[in-house]
Amino acid sequence: MTSISKRLQAILSSIESAKQHAHVDQTVQLLAVSKAQAAAAIREAYAAGQRQFGENYLQEALDKQAQLSDLAILWHFIGPIQSNKTQSIAQHFDWVHSVDRLKIAQRLNDARANISTPLQVCVQINISNEASKSGVLVADLQATVAAIAKLPHLQLRGLMAIPAPSQDLSVLRQQFKQVRQCYDNLLALGYQLDTLSIGMSDDYAVAIEQGATIVRIGSALFGARAK
Ligand SMILES: *Cc1c(COP(=O)(O)O)cnc(C)c1O
Repeated sequence: MTSISKRLQAILSSIESAKQHAHVDQTVQLLAVSKAQAAAAIREAYAAGQRQFGENYLQEALDKQAQLSDLAILWHFIGPIQSNKTQSIAQHFDWVHSVDRLKIAQRLNDARANISTPLQVCVQINISNEASKSGVLVADLQATVAAIAKLPHLQLRGLMAIPAPSQDLSVLRQQFKQVRQCYDNLLALGYQLDTLSIGMSDDYAVAIEQGATIVRIGSALFGARAK
């Protein structure tokens, strides 16, 4: 086995342990975050069974997609989105986790009109309420979700968040709890959501405990990034 394949198996089994330890039973999918990794590393993870990959930078992703067009990969866009990139993102990705304002959602929707399957989207929320961080503020979430849910070429799947970094797991837990609360509130309002995209290499066990259904893991799978 290659080291990527070994690490993949180790992560999948630690996802299962985290579920057992926390007594939760939601389905948790691994999104392999391949930013700054070569196409060959993605190919290796694919050969080991991984199908869903997340990228942050459009041009880098397009280059790798071209090199990997023989593989049946589901591509997730998880990085910040500039308006002038929405056309290409809507055409070249299956999922977008980082929808952080209505205008971006509308542009993605318009750009997806010629494809029969809707773009699968999560709304990114700003849980730390820092003006500098991207994401919809909790106070604006309901209105934004209501508008996005009406867009015909997007399928709203749930919420994504990146907590403010902390070494303290209880601080991270508190932030994940808040995302979960927002998610539960939307479910109670009748939105049919199934995706809570929280948790990265260092905190995915805590995110799973708080209900994560997708964990976005880069360095624990591929090793440290060069940039
Ligand atoms: C880079 C990145 C990840 C993965 O981070 P790791 O700590 O390497 O697992 C997850 N989500 C987003 C949005 C990222 O930008």
